[in-house]
Parts: sequence; C-alpha cells; structure tokens
Amino acid sequence: MTRLVNLSGVKVIDYRLIEGIGIILSLENTHKQVVCPACGQTTDLLHQNNFQTVRDLSFGQQAVYLKVNRRRMRCPHCQNKFTEELEFVRRKRLHTKRFVEKIIEEVLNSDIRNVAKRNDLSEQEIETMLKDLGLDLVAEKPVNLKKLGIDEIAVVKGQRNYYVVLVDLEKKKVVGLVEQRTKKAIAEYLEAWGEEVLSEIEEISIDLWKTYKNIAEELIPQATIVADRFHVMKQVNDELDGARRKIKREAEKLKNKSKKDKILSGLAKSKYVLLKNQSDLKESEKEKLKEVQEVAPILIEMHCLKEKLRNIFETQKNWGEGLLEIADWLKDVSKYFPKSFGTIKRWIGEIIAYFDEGTTQGIVEGINNKLKLIKRRAFGFRNFDNFELRSFLTWQFAS
Ligand SMILES: [Zn+2]
Repeated sequence: MTRLVNLSGVKVIDYRLIEGIGIILSLENTHKQVVCPACGQTTDLLHQNNFQTVRDLSFGQQAVYLKVNRRRMRCPHCQNKFTEELEFVRRKRLHTKRFVEKIIEEVLNSDIRNVAKRNDLSEQEIETMLKDLGLDLVAEKPVNLKKLGIDEIAVVKGQRNYYVVLVDLEKKKVVGLVEQRTKKAIAEYLEAWGEEVLSEIEEISIDLWKTYKNIAEELIPQATIVADRFHVMKQVNDELDGARRKIKREAEKLKNKSKKDKILSGLAKSKYVLLKNQSDLKESEKEKLKEVQEVAPILIEMHCLKEKLRNIFETQKNWGEGLLEIADWLKDVSKYFPKSFGTIKRWIGEIIAYFDEGTTQGIVEGINNKLKLIKRRAFGFRNFDNFELRSFLTWQFAS
C-alpha cells in the first residue's frame, strides 16, 4: 500500500473503505527527526499530534483521503514550537499537491464550474488552488526572461471572466498569473517585477487585444511585439464559423421545405470539417466538404482562404516574404472575412514580426512540441489557449 500511495516520508498503516465517501488511508510519518524552521537544527521532540484528512488523487471511482499527522514539534535548541511541513501537501491546505495539479490541468481544459462538479469540490476550493499557484509564481520573480507571452484562461467557460497568464516562452514556463484581465491589474503585476526584469525582455507575444499592446508599449518599450499566429488563425476560424451559423439560421427561416432541408442536411456536422486543417482531413470529411460546396459554396471559399493563410504561417520565410504573402492574401478576403481583414491590417506589423527569423521561430517550435507532447488534436485551434497553458503547466509541474 505504501508503494502504491508513493508519497515520500510516510507509510500506510491502515485503510478503510467508507460507503459513499471513499477510501481513507491512515499514514504514519517515517522519520522522527524534523528540521526546526527557526534555527535549522533537527529535533525529535513531539509537542502534540495533529491529525488532518487530506484529499488525494482518486482510485478508480473512489475518492481517496489521507489521514496525516502534521506533528507539532518542539525544538530543544531554540524552544521554538512549530508544525512540521509535509512535502506532498501545502501548509494549511487539505488537498495533496498532486491532486491540485490534476485539478488545475482539468480547469485548463474545461472550466472551474464543471471541474468542481466532476470532482465534488466547491468552486471556491478551486479558486483557492489557482490563487495558491499564483502566489507561488509571484514569490519568485522571473530570471533571464527574454520572451514573454501574455495569454488568458477563462474562469468559467462562456463568461467574460479571465485570468491572465504570463509565460516565459523560452523556458516554456508560467511566470505569472493575474487575477483580473484589466490594464491596471496587469500593469501593476509587471511593475512589481521591477525594471531589472522588464528591461531584459526582448519580445512579447500577445493575442490581438489592444490593451496588451498598450501595456507592452508603455512598460516594456524596447521589446518587439508579436501577434501570436494561433490567435490570428482563431479569429479567422471564428469568422468562418460565424458565416456557417448565419447561413444555417437563414436556411431555417426558409418557407420552401425541400430547399430548407437540403441546405440544413448539407451543413449538418460541417463545423469541425470546415475548421480542421485540410491536411488532417479524412476521406469522409473531404466528402462532407463536397456536400457543403453544393449548398453553401461561399463556406468552401472561406475554408480555402483560411487554409491559404495557415500555409503562409506554416512555411518558413523572412518577414519581407511574409509581408508580401499576407498582403497578397488580404487582397482576396475583404468580402469573405471583413472582420479579420480589418484586424490583420491593423496588426500587420505585429503579425509580420512573427516571420522575423530567430526571434519568434522558437516560440512556434516550442508550442508545437508541447502540443505534440500532450497529444491533443487542436481542432481549429479553438482550445489553443487551453492546450498551450496546459502544457506550460504540465512542464512547470514536471520540473
Ligand atoms: Zn530551533
């Protein structure tokens, strides 16, 4: 049992299965000597036992609770009384660190409300876990940060409520978490790093949000701002999907039943086929595109334009070539993608900065490697933020 539980410094001395609750494992500390935090000497003088029940990773369908003894110790050298630290659970918390890691990973792929429900936790408990992670990150200032990525995660999916995530793109590690997605909160967070850290940043990768750009220009003026290509693609994909939904809505209003049914069946289950990368399409999915072509040719034209842009990003080139190709692409798209057309034109400098070899190639490679690492298919990049973050955090926790 001890080996199964696999936590250092403790062994399992008893277990119970309680119907409707789960498995309760009683643990005993294997070491007698504890280091005094005040003077650094060791002591084995027990002042008081202090049993607590800590939630751990589930075993199959069963929730697992660990009954641990966070001993109160007394130090004979300095008379200090203190509670011993357990390696696998944060002080004053009632979930093991590995349980918290699993929950945060789930949150990055979903949202707090669902994860809370699924794991029988309160949303408040998960908020606390995220805040703890944030505090850890605040405690240590980033070192040698050259490429900063600014991203966000939805607190609750579908609601405009985000945490901002700051990432060291070279080390592929989260270096900050800001609770509010406002200019003030983010600027304060960055300013707290100090000039020492900020002046070292050479490049900032952001999504297409003006506020991030303003913050970067004001606080980190020397850095090159790069618009993240995946966010550019996301906007194009969103617009393509919006067009699909609009055509569907209009078809639903048609009086002519056979015409209506024909369009709706042609469009049925076309969403991911349209958004997916052409090169990843299966035969059946290519057939589906042909059906869409029959009823809504404009969507296929948009799909092709979307793929064309993706190919521009996929193939390596210098920024001059990148600029020419994107400018060329823009010539064709204003009537299909009016919104993306405007955005890309407004952000052209930041988008082209991506092609500046050597400065941004690493980010993309890193992101792609991580994407492979977590073996998830990014359908139309819709969950890209989550994937990216999940892998950053995975990396963070693994190290
Ligand atoms: Zn002491």
